[in-house]
Amino acid sequence: MRGLYLHIPFCQHKCVYCDFYSLETIHLIEEFVETLLEEIRLRAASIQASEANSLRSGQLQFQTVFFGGGTPSLLSPKQMERIIAQLHRYFAIDADAEWTMECNPGTVTPEHLRAYRALGMNRLSYGVQSFHEDELRFLSRIHSVGEAQEAIKLSRDAGFENINLDLMFALPNQRFEQWKSTLDIAVALQTDHISAYSLIFEPGTPLNTMLQQGKVRAQNEEHDAEMYSYAIDFLGQHGYEQYEVSNFAKDGKYCAHNCLYWQGDEYVSFGPSAHGYLFGTRYWNARSLKRYTENVRTGALPLTSSEILSDKERMFERAFLELRARGIRKAEFLRDFGVSIDDALAPLLREFVPTGELRTSSERVQCTPKGYAVCDALTVEAIHLLEKYCGVEWKQPQESEEIV
Ligand code: SF4
Repeated sequence: MRGLYLHIPFCQHKCVYCDFYSLETIHLIEEFVETLLEEIRLRAASIQASEANSLRSGQLQFQTVFFGGGTPSLLSPKQMERIIAQLHRYFAIDADAEWTMECNPGTVTPEHLRAYRALGMNRLSYGVQSFHEDELRFLSRIHSVGEAQEAIKLSRDAGFENINLDLMFALPNQRFEQWKSTLDIAVALQTDHISAYSLIFEPGTPLNTMLQQGKVRAQNEEHDAEMYSYAIDFLGQHGYEQYEVSNFAKDGKYCAHNCLYWQGDEYVSFGPSAHGYLFGTRYWNARSLKRYTENVRTGALPLTSSEILSDKERMFERAFLELRARGIRKAEFLRDFGVSIDDALAPLLREFVPTGELRTSSERVQCTPKGYAVCDALTVEAIHLLEKYCGVEWKQPQESEEIV
């Protein structure tokens, strides 16, 4: 699989916990769209030049498109239409591709939703976070519980069947009962997909400052782990299959775009702070709208850095990501890296298959629901064993943090 990602770096209001690159200067959206159209053209030209120099033949084909942010639902249908037309103009996208758009429940209207659907969007991902007003206020979300529920209904009325809800747990002062009732309401909405994340105090966010000033207290680790385990069990009982540490889907409705990240596939990205991976090279766009715009206007790609991944780096990354998701694919691992995962991870399998935390089949080694709850520890151990087996150490890549 291969994907396209577009980062829309605007939000109506910045949430206290968020460290994604986004700005409240929404009056700049129209100008940004112009720049984005140009970046798409520049990137396509650069890919064509690379293709001409590579051994690959034929145009690259794409199976997923993901509008993330930021808040893509701040884009008007007209702006969205122009971007989509530009993507079709320069990239070959499968007719049955997955087209996802992240939405804030406080920004959608029936007219816009119908228009997005008519433009070909077929999956919406809503940042809902909580079904409690006090928690939404604490997180400084711009929407109410009622607006979130209404947004799901409106989306269905507009023809969207495939909908994700993002939820958050382990908030300061969050009682267990509150988390349970958020999950109750989410499940009652019967969306095909739910993502459940533990709140992280990201450096540089207002929430982290509040933590350092003693204005809020983080939940203790046991409470956090209990909430997570409860979500795994509860969602499992309601037909949601866990297919990654934080992601649950009904009837195999996995997010294809995220799956391609987790199995080390290629993706081309656009927009400030976006990063892509193509022809064995990872690249980062400038994490600054100003720098991004200046670069594109002068006809340059808005890159801040890039790196070529060695085979070994790709191998470690693949093992790390796949074990956290749908499992390490054994045949592909052997084909791509010449390493038998059964041999390399034999001690791990001997210990954690009998305890019910890992399962192994002819196809994959993967976490069970019990294993996802301790996935960090299992992954650390798996990487350690792989390092020993291959006789190399893995230095995990650091993302570019340039902010201007
Ligand atoms: S709406 Fe989403 S991207 Fe925007 S600030 Fe809030 S969490 Fe971050």
